[in-house]
Amino acid sequence: MKLHILGCYAATPRTLTNPTSQVLEVKNHMFLIDCGEGTQVQLRKHKIKFSRINHIFISHLHGDHFFGLSGLVSTFRLLGREKELHIYGPKGIKEAITLLLKLGDSWTNYQLYFHELTNKGPEVIFEDDKITVETIRLNHRIYTNGFLFKEKLGERKLNVEAVAKHKVDKAYFQNIKNGRDVVLDNGMVIPNADLSFDPPTPKSYAYCSDTAYKPDIVEQITNATALYHESTFLESEVHLAVRTKHSTAKEAAAIAKAANVGQLILGHYSTRYKSIDLFKEEALEVFPNVELADDGKFFDF
Ligand SMILES: [Zn+2]
Repeated sequence: MKLHILGCYAATPRTLTNPTSQVLEVKNHMFLIDCGEGTQVQLRKHKIKFSRINHIFISHLHGDHFFGLSGLVSTFRLLGREKELHIYGPKGIKEAITLLLKLGDSWTNYQLYFHELTNKGPEVIFEDDKITVETIRLNHRIYTNGFLFKEKLGERKLNVEAVAKHKVDKAYFQNIKNGRDVVLDNGMVIPNADLSFDPPTPKSYAYCSDTAYKPDIVEQITNATALYHESTFLESEVHLAVRTKHSTAKEAAAIAKAANVGQLILGHYSTRYKSIDLFKEEALEVFPNVELADDGKFFDF
């Protein structure tokens, strides 16, 4: 999985910091997650092909997570897009975007599908043969979902030397990849384990922004390869975190530790702090593998 951070700061866009948006590349998909103001500029700046984005996931309807969406939808039209575009987000997102298109008499010339979410618990909202996307119910001032992107278990890998040694015909290869044993013409059975290797462990990415400290998400995201968890504040401002339903770096790390994730990526920083390194220092006291998201940063996991 490859993760491009386009923006990871809370509240308003500033000269050097952008509101939330990121692109996850997985199994030939390019998923756009949240779309704060300026997202299309960031896409251009980081040379990410607009045309490969077919699915957009919006966590909640605070401006710093979706004010870039109407502009992007409109730009797709100007670029002559023909492929359909799917937008997943809270109920109301369709009304918000279509009103702007209607007032400007600028309907898209491609199919635009809204998948409005009202679920109270986790729900699978996208699935194909290689991946699923589930919502993670978060606790914020308005209705908010995180998203869990999960690879499916792939086919077994053919043991090329073993199939050659046993002179197994090519016609059996797909069955071997599907986990079946092979019966030779003389009746001898070769167990599947002798002819193939286990598939790679499926990866997963959990995106959790914005939310108050919410330990009941741990079960759903346990063993995720990577967790992006918001850390708007440090513990010194925990009272603000509680009041605004955000998390501190320490709380994000506690979630990462309880869920035993591979790595924690912090983001959604308040711009009140002098350095984002403070967030990493605080989280490292609780959990060992902490990375800082930053605009333009790229993660491969
Ligand atoms: Zn918010």
